Amino acid sequence: MPTSVLIIDDSVTVREQIIRTLEPFKLFDRYYEAEDGLDGFKKLSSSPVDIILCDLEMPRIDGFKFLNMLKNRPELQDVPVIILTGMNDRERKLKGLEQGASDYITKPFDHEELVARVKIHLKIKTLQDELKRSNEKLQKLSNTDHLTELFNRRYMMEVLEKEVQRSVRKGSDLSIIMLDVDHFKQVNDRYGHLQGDVILKRVALQLKQELRSYDCAARYGGEEFISILPDSSLQQSLLVADRIRLAIQAFKFDGPLAPLCLTASLGVAHFSMEQSVTVDGFIKQADDALYRAKANGRNRVEFHP
Ligand code: GH3
Ligand code: MG
Ligand code: MG
Ligand code: MG
Repeated sequence: MPTSVLIIDDSVTVREQIIRTLEPFKLFDRYYEAEDGLDGFKKLSSSPVDIILCDLEMPRIDGFKFLNMLKNRPELQDVPVIILTGMNDRERKLKGLEQGASDYITKPFDHEELVARVKIHLKIKTLQDELKRSNEKLQKLSNTDHLTELFNRRYMMEVLEKEVQRSVRKGSDLSIIMLDVDHFKQVNDRYGHLQGDVILKRVALQLKQELRSYDCAARYGGEEFISILPDSSLQQSLLVADRIRLAIQAFKFDGPLAPLCLTASLGVAHFSMEQSVTVDGFIKQADDALYRAKANGRNRVEFHP
């Protein structure tokens, strides 16, 4: 990722001085300039930067207004702003810091101090970005089933809790589909556990392909999967479930799995406020339907009640 800085000042001379001071240190790949807060804000929208140096006194949108505009943009919240103030401008320095600036530099600026402060804030920004990225990675890992890369059971339960609450609040449709691979024990016995894993990954892919982006597909346990379909009526969900069933049945494996005709059974439940079921009760309904699909010969879809 190229590193970049945005310098906002109505004086071309000041902007040029800053760039000339920073350039030899090779801290940045790109230097963006703006002549007032509005111009700076526009530049930010088209090219995100790592640090902003911003004059306080400018015509039209000044530094304070600029800081306020930044507050309304959550994605820009982590970009450090160093304000440029006059030497004896104690009140304005404080006001700038209070309004969200990370630091200040007084004009006419000391070149070494400018470089030192920019380096510090760049370093903090880099560490913050790294922390954010590794937190996101951890979050994703803790929500993901490692074999299939679908959501795991724990995260699915969280999502389902929220969706049930939403459905109660808004009176919107909510359905779940529980899927269980047919005779998977035999499949494992015949092709081996490793090939069994290949099959589970394939089933996960088929699920993802048949679902919408805002549905949630999760591995519930061994060879059982649950899909959450917000805003889906029973009718719609039955169609989706049957599409999943047909897609699994139609898939032709290659290699050692070529002779395999894989099928799955599915149980569908639609959330009903009148019955005031709990999340566990709701899952039980889908499980009961799934049980009937198995009892009625497998490779079928049944629904509750
Ligand atoms: P049914 O049609 O009634 O569902 O029969 P089944 O054999 O699929 O049902 P059962 O629940 O008895 O067997 C599930 C099998 O799934 C047993 C277990 O060895 C296998 N299994 C569970 N998790 C994994 C896994 O992560 N990888 C593989 N390869 N097999 C798994
Ligand atoms: Mg000025
Ligand atoms: Mg099972
Ligand atoms: Mg099974």
